[in-house]
Amino acid sequence: MASFQSFSARLVNAKQLSLPTRHLQFEIEGKERFGFIPGQWLSFKASESSGEEITRAYSIASPPAHDARFELCLNRVQDGFMSNFLCDMKAGGVVQCQGPFGNFTLRPPLRDTIFIATGTGIAPFRSMLHWLFADELRHLNRNLWLVFGSRTEADIYYHSEFLALAGKHANFHYLPTLSRADESWEGLRGYVQEHVKEIADKRTDMHAYICGLDKMVKVNRDLLKELGWDRKSILYEKYD
Ligand SMILES: Cc1cc2nc3c(=O)[nH]c(=O)nc-3n(C[C@H](O)[C@H](O)[C@H](O)COP(=O)(O)OP(=O)(O)OC[C@H]3O[C@@H](n4cnc5c(N)ncnc54)[C@H](O)[C@@H]3O)c2cc1C
Repeated sequence: MASFQSFSARLVNAKQLSLPTRHLQFEIEGKERFGFIPGQWLSFKASESSGEEITRAYSIASPPAHDARFELCLNRVQDGFMSNFLCDMKAGGVVQCQGPFGNFTLRPPLRDTIFIATGTGIAPFRSMLHWLFADELRHLNRNLWLVFGSRTEADIYYHSEFLALAGKHANFHYLPTLSRADESWEGLRGYVQEHVKEIADKRTDMHAYICGLDKMVKVNRDLLKELGWDRKSILYEKYD
């Protein structure tokens, strides 16, 4: 029997993360608690002006909590219906959802792990990392790398949160990398795969989780396979 549910979610809060990207917080109506596994996604349903019903998937960007709230990290896609519908929602607005779905979730037992994201592909990793670091036993004796690719410093979503996690946990290695950094940027430059190689080389005992657009996912999967990684150690979610 399917364990997913259909429900209405009310927008509680919204925040602009960058020019095209918003962070949305929803509360499920009539529910005290919403259970899901970090990395899972929800299906959102709304009708276009023609009456056609559209459904799209969005990863949950927050860790499971003791309430019925969840968060999204959402990019406006040019001429896209659902991304703009959700980004245009005002606090108090309601949308129909189903879920949670998906098995892009942490595989136990936790190994040393590299999380690779670009853009809103950070969403499932924000959920996973906050969940992992909420309890020392969940990440004990493991090294975790987050390689997060953006164009400019303004596009590094949740930067201060990840800096704070890295400041608190010596085993969390936060590596934002910029493809169009200005001169003042002192961090990594270039595309994610250039830095993944340094971490993953000769480390076939790790897991890799990759999330973002198809092209980036493919480049990184191919790289890891070339480095001798077993395909079962490479988990990924494609957004397009
Ligand atoms: C499992 C899963 C989880 C996802 N989670 C997220 C998430 O957390 N945040 C998020 O912002 N998106 C996420 N997406 C993408 C999302 O489902 C939609 O595809 C996206 O928002 C576009 O929908 P739309 O109706 O606005 O545009 P559509 O009408 O579907 O697309 C318009 C055009 O944009 C292209 N396109 C489709 N998706 C993208 C994209 N993501 N980026 C650039 N171009 C695209 C299409 O090829 C099409 O040409 C996820 C997708 C999947 C499969």
